[in-house]
Amino acid sequence: MTDLHRLSIRELSEGLAGAKFSSRELTEHYLKRIEKIDAQVKSYVTVTAEQALAQADATDAAIKAGTASVLTGVPIAHKDIFCTQGIKTTAGSKMLDNFISPYDATVVAKGKAAGLVTLGKVNMDEFAMGSTSENSYYGATANPWNLSHVPGGSSGGSAAAVAADLAPFATGTDTGGSIRQPASFCGLTGLKPTYGRVSRFGMIAYASSLDQGGPMARSAEDCAYLMNVMAGHDAKDSTSVEKDIDNYVANLNGTSVKGLRIGIPKQYFNVAGLDADVKARVEESLKKLEEMGAILVEIDLTMTDAYVPTYYLIAPAEASSNLQRFDGVRYGYRAENPVDLMDLYKRSRSEGFGKEVQQRILIGTYALSAGYYDAYYVKAQKVRRLIQQDFLKAFESVDVIAAPAAPTTAYKIGANLSPVEMYLGDIYTIAVNLAGLPAINAPVGFDKDNLPVGLQLIGNYWSESQLLSVVHQYQQATDWHTKRAAIAEENA
Ligand code: GLN
Repeated sequence: MTDLHRLSIRELSEGLAGAKFSSRELTEHYLKRIEKIDAQVKSYVTVTAEQALAQADATDAAIKAGTASVLTGVPIAHKDIFCTQGIKTTAGSKMLDNFISPYDATVVAKGKAAGLVTLGKVNMDEFAMGSTSENSYYGATANPWNLSHVPGGSSGGSAAAVAADLAPFATGTDTGGSIRQPASFCGLTGLKPTYGRVSRFGMIAYASSLDQGGPMARSAEDCAYLMNVMAGHDAKDSTSVEKDIDNYVANLNGTSVKGLRIGIPKQYFNVAGLDADVKARVEESLKKLEEMGAILVEIDLTMTDAYVPTYYLIAPAEASSNLQRFDGVRYGYRAENPVDLMDLYKRSRSEGFGKEVQQRILIGTYALSAGYYDAYYVKAQKVRRLIQQDFLKAFESVDVIAAPAAPTTAYKIGANLSPVEMYLGDIYTIAVNLAGLPAINAPVGFDKDNLPVGLQLIGNYWSESQLLSVVHQYQQATDWHTKRAAIAEENA
């Protein structure tokens, strides 16, 4: 079969269960595609062909024995931030170029238990800091829609792999938009769950109070299948919440768009730098939702101007603390021939970390230092609370909030934006992480250069089912999520 990569997760599940094809055939099909096409996309850092085929054979045996579950035998790509036992986990950094984790991240372990076959580990901005995936030690990944553009970041490898049909779905993480923005740039659906919904155990930390893993796939339905695997309490992550998970697949039709109140923040559509095509496509998608019965309500989110400065204090502050563990002593990169301990620390860190990471460690350390702590870090925490309250107030009168996922479509590779320009591109995503809320990106069309545009829907706490359901219904009525980049149409 040459078109296995066009099947949805449900179709893959049914095909495997009905013995229309085996997991070995499916896995070989994807491995062949990766071999042929990924030289152009560069989405994978590590392809685990041998382990994948062994896993595939084991899942085929389980299917035959009648012990399979719904995703048994379906392939997946993991962002290279999730620890994988026996397979290197780099977080896109020279610092971890040789790192092989002694254990699996909970998300990876749950995937294995569900019978998912790991195709490999996909590229990302170093330690998830960035919006283009160009900050990777392993070089830039290309956007399948136009290879001279970035796929977004930091989960750019996940997005590019799925958009080029080099994996049926992938895990991502989102600290300030890293699932939603690459999903938007690559024409995919991506869900950032409520903080605490998905275990962070074994997920290399960037900013611990913001980090959250989630699914990236073509459709809300595909994401729902992966959410059913990823979500849930984990005793190994003290911030994961003990709360029953929904059956995200069963709930796909659980929310009616009829009567759904969608808040349109007036500040969001007047942001300088909001591309005219992005604005037009997002407005068209809202019009479509209105035709489907939704009620559009203008709302105020008065803290919008504070998002970027607040996030870019808190995230680097937490990063500077989290990244202290990379000291050249215990694991990771170690500088050669140190003259003393201080030299070992200094050179390991300046040789092992890239420029953006070093910049953020410096900013974060400064913000946390005695004398500046109250003026910067504590103040940012207070503003963070105000941002959260702003959302909660809005949710008193609306069910979800609509926004673009990003003010622009995918940048050109090498565009070399200044840090400030780059950080301003995160305006629509970072407040959601500061507030700990869930949000989803759905593809809603293209700009004049045929690059995808995304609509973001932000929900109240624990409303993942509702977000998936609303997007699912939008996707039943439209076909943006079925559009494929030319490179995805190529057969291996
Ligand atoms: N672009 C943002 C940053 O660089 C978000 C990254 C993320 O969500 N990991 O911090």
